[in-house]
Amino acid sequence: MTAPTARKPLISLDMALAQLLGTVADHSPRREAVSTFEADGRVLAQDVVSALQVPPQDNSSMDGYALRVADCTPGTPLTVSQRIAAGASGTALQPGTVARIFTGAPIPPGADAVVMQEDCTESGAVGHPAIVVNTTPQVGQWIRRQGEDVAAGHAVLSAGQRLGPAALGMAASVGMAQLQVALRPRVALFSTGDELVMPGECEPAGMPPGAIYNSNRFFLASLLRRMGCAVTDLGIVPDRLDATVEALRSAAREHDVILTSGGVSVGEEDHIKPAVQALGTLDLWQIAIKPGKPFAHGRIGTAHFIGLPGNPVSSFMTFLLLVRPFLLRMQGAIDVAMTAQTLRADFAWPRADRRQEFLRARRNAAGGLDLFPNQSSGVLSSAVWGDGFVDNPAGQAIAKGDLVRFVAFSDLLS
Ligand code: AMP
Ligand code: MG
Repeated sequence: MTAPTARKPLISLDMALAQLLGTVADHSPRREAVSTFEADGRVLAQDVVSALQVPPQDNSSMDGYALRVADCTPGTPLTVSQRIAAGASGTALQPGTVARIFTGAPIPPGADAVVMQEDCTESGAVGHPAIVVNTTPQVGQWIRRQGEDVAAGHAVLSAGQRLGPAALGMAASVGMAQLQVALRPRVALFSTGDELVMPGECEPAGMPPGAIYNSNRFFLASLLRRMGCAVTDLGIVPDRLDATVEALRSAAREHDVILTSGGVSVGEEDHIKPAVQALGTLDLWQIAIKPGKPFAHGRIGTAHFIGLPGNPVSSFMTFLLLVRPFLLRMQGAIDVAMTAQTLRADFAWPRADRRQEFLRARRNAAGGLDLFPNQSSGVLSSAVWGDGFVDNPAGQAIAKGDLVRFVAFSDLLS
């Protein structure tokens, strides 16, 4: 029997995160040009400065009539002297007349308002259209001004910003067909554990004794892809030192990051530690969080090694808390912090823990939070039932009605 290893002191999550982000040396990541159409989820590696005004000219925000307010006298018909559809451009408005105009069409020179068609009565003869305006228009009404969205020369998007739907639309609205974005991190993913069986390899009825399905592989691959990574799935690596060393050695050659789950404790069947140490360097942290705790970061050549705990919820949560910001920072993202909301706990959590806890919870219709009854680190149901987690400081109990910090999964996954 080997002597028990001395317990390492726990470090705080904040300290672990700062150290992990500190290993991302390169603050200007390698970049590539991609089509704006394909750039969703990527991190922008350039500022986008508008070369034009948006909208490019004053235009109508209604179907109706463009006119000069001073020409309107209640009850007096005005001749319709031109018709301007979206995509066309009109001519200067003849005094005392109106222009039929449609949403998005440019305002003709001389007009200073648009009256919506619902506020007009057609009064002309066939071939000689005219209208009577039934309201008193205000100068400027229903006109979208040139440059009211974006002024020429204005930076509409900036480097380090993660591209989402609205940002893609904005890039397109200033004419960008391509964008410079950070390269996708190439991540090799493998699971350790001789108890693991891949779904499909074995039917539930025929599971060997002691076997469980590999669930981590599935959520980790999904999480990685949502963080913009190109994932290589290396499957399950057996609990043997030589197999672990071999898997790491070959993965390190063509990946920026190697992510593993399981085997980071210091039990006899945990081979990650000696395997990484045989090939490079390793820091094994005990982080004061629950679920979670064991977490490893190391280097094998130029590749980062990250080892997550095997328990599914620990793996899931340490990914969100540590790996997510790390992967985003690798891509040059500036804002990698979690955003939290302050919500009312409609539950009690009477036993304070000495570690910072992340309790899977769900927002209810009354605007408060319900707690999943089983908070064990192996119970993945908690993360399916919950739509986020309560970030509960170390040493704190929660009474019903207390205000707590809640982080929505959806805010971390998009
Ligand atoms: P370990 O960190 O390897 O000691 O594993 C801790 C616990 O997590 C054990 O009960 C494992 O069976 C379980 N576990 C490890 N890896 C996975 C996985 N990929 N999918 C589901 N459970 C796992
Ligand atoms: Mg294991």
